[in-house]
Amino acid sequence: MANPFFKVIRSVLLWAAGNQTCKNIVSKLPFTKPVVKRFISGESVEDALAVIAELKAKGIRTTIDFLGEDTTDVDQAYVVRDAYLELLDKLVERGLIDSCEVSIKLTALGAGLPNGEEIAFSVAESIVKAANEAGTTATVDMEDHTVTDFTLGIVKRLREQYPSTGTVLQAYLFRTVDDAKDFSGPGSRIRLCKGAYKEPATVAYQEKADVDAAYLKALQVLIDGQGRPMVASHDPAIISSAIEAFEKSGRDKDSYEFQMLYGIRTDAQEKLAQDGYNMTVYVPYGTEWWGYFVRRLAERPANLLFFLRALVGK
Ligand SMILES: Cc1cc2nc3c(=O)[nH]c(=O)nc-3n(C[C@H](O)[C@H](O)[C@H](O)COP(=O)(O)OP(=O)(O)OC[C@H]3O[C@@H](n4cnc5c(N)ncnc54)[C@H](O)[C@@H]3O)c2cc1C
Repeated sequence: MANPFFKVIRSVLLWAAGNQTCKNIVSKLPFTKPVVKRFISGESVEDALAVIAELKAKGIRTTIDFLGEDTTDVDQAYVVRDAYLELLDKLVERGLIDSCEVSIKLTALGAGLPNGEEIAFSVAESIVKAANEAGTTATVDMEDHTVTDFTLGIVKRLREQYPSTGTVLQAYLFRTVDDAKDFSGPGSRIRLCKGAYKEPATVAYQEKADVDAAYLKALQVLIDGQGRPMVASHDPAIISSAIEAFEKSGRDKDSYEFQMLYGIRTDAQEKLAQDGYNMTVYVPYGTEWWGYFVRRLAERPANLLFFLRALVGK
């Protein structure tokens, strides 16, 4: 984030993540799909199941995201719900449910529609209920700052009936230390990440050093609390500070976990699992991969270079 040139590229990419025209042009280019494959397990449920089984064999747990954002009609929200229900059935059938949970995005469940709060809540509730009945959990992803209150409100409602429902807090938001205090009670499951959206300086830290400092502050609140902190970062400095803080706290290794995204720092994922830490990989699948994929390119110059190399055929 420090390089001004990359800052501009990052802003352009984060804008493109929500732009339909860019999506239509770039997603049809022949070299795009092979690059996408690095970050997305595939377009079908079978693709996701194969990746889940492969990671399970390495002692790595998974949280599965059926890709989709900005649902524009209620039927689309039901399609997303049905995809999760099918996925959960198959996870049980194949004996994979013990290594797996689901991640859901409220905009994919209809949050942006008129009466979106009730639609997203009821669709989320059906998925969370099915996950609980299958013997696992669900975690609600966090999107941009305009929906933070909305998302946390729905998570609180879901937790009344399904207390294991987790959510995500983003360290770049000024409000996050307070939210971490609010969500550090018994049974709470909080995935702490840095934050992936383009946010204004009025609500979020803009410099990596500030985001990292805020991350460790919020993490300490979660460690001192009674819930399950889920450290979602690929950053080696954050991971080693987290390990140090967990050890200092005397917490049992089973009371927290590390999380990374599919295709990013695979070696580090395997090493943490081999060292006896709970390691969960976020595995996305589905045809609606555009927004997710472009946010990954925006996170790191190397990810973008990987894509550009494919563009020139190297
Ligand atoms: C499980 C999970 C769930 C998430 N859910 C959400 C969510 O709901 N909402 C949201 O806003 N964001 C979410 N994110 C994304 C997150 O907010 C960050 O955008 C993303 O994780 C990048 O931040 P970072 O902590 O990995 O560190 P960065 O600051 O991006 O990277 C720091 C360092 O990590 C290492 N690194 C990073 N990427 C790579 C790579 N590709 N290869 C090698 N080294 C690398 C490098 O050393 C780099 O300097 C999630 C992330 C994870 C892991």
